[in-house]
Amino acid sequence: MYQNEVIFDNGFHKFYFLGWEEKEEEIVQTNQYLIVDGDEAVLLDPGGAHVFPRVLANVSEIIEPSKITHLFYTHQDPDVTSGIILWLSIAESSKVHISNLWVRFLPHFGVYDQRRVVGIPDHGDTIKLKSGNTLELIPAHYLHSTGNFNLYDPVAKILFSGDIGTCVFPAGKRYREAVDFESHVKNMEAFHKRYMASNVACRKWVDTVSKKQIDVIAPQHGAIMRGECVKKFLNWLKDLKCGIDLIDQFYGK
Ligand code: FE
Repeated sequence: MYQNEVIFDNGFHKFYFLGWEEKEEEIVQTNQYLIVDGDEAVLLDPGGAHVFPRVLANVSEIIEPSKITHLFYTHQDPDVTSGIILWLSIAESSKVHISNLWVRFLPHFGVYDQRRVVGIPDHGDTIKLKSGNTLELIPAHYLHSTGNFNLYDPVAKILFSGDIGTCVFPAGKRYREAVDFESHVKNMEAFHKRYMASNVACRKWVDTVSKKQIDVIAPQHGAIMRGECVKKFLNWLKDLKCGIDLIDQFYGK
């Protein structure tokens, strides 16, 4: 199993990139992240039922899983949410944060106790931690999901970007961090062109997140990006034609 990696640590507040499966399989590779703030923890896009045992093992190496107080879901896809009922049973006092658009879909995953669900309004929300630190839930609608959010951690200056910034690794060539944007972008292009809704949505998001100081972009698939790579990615996405901009291509015309 790939080891957990600390991406940020100031002694009190830590941002972990959890491990991933050693074996490459015919399923979408996913990343999970854990924010530890003193004695509580926040788990980001915990993943599907299939990866639950591995993610639980990763979390348990860092903190007692019952200390998870918030589960954040960028959107409703199965690789993000299908393990939700398992996590709610382990992290017994945690709240679930997901777009208001998806709250009524949660009973289909077996989540009936709405008291644990905090719907995120379209314009965003915050998660307030016991220490006084705050995590920002930033709109990222239509990238790719209709009701879609990112989580910005202002202490770590890390943007958890969900599917935005995803890269699809060629077989046998996984890496945890992008080193050279020009080669990395080749593994991002096809995914963003097909999954992201349009250049209008990309541009709105880039304008929004550009107001934040971002040291690291941490996506739900692929590799993290730092520093110069972050700047180059935002510039690239701002001008990307994708989704409905290219609709004729997808109909084979
Ligand atoms: Fe997705």
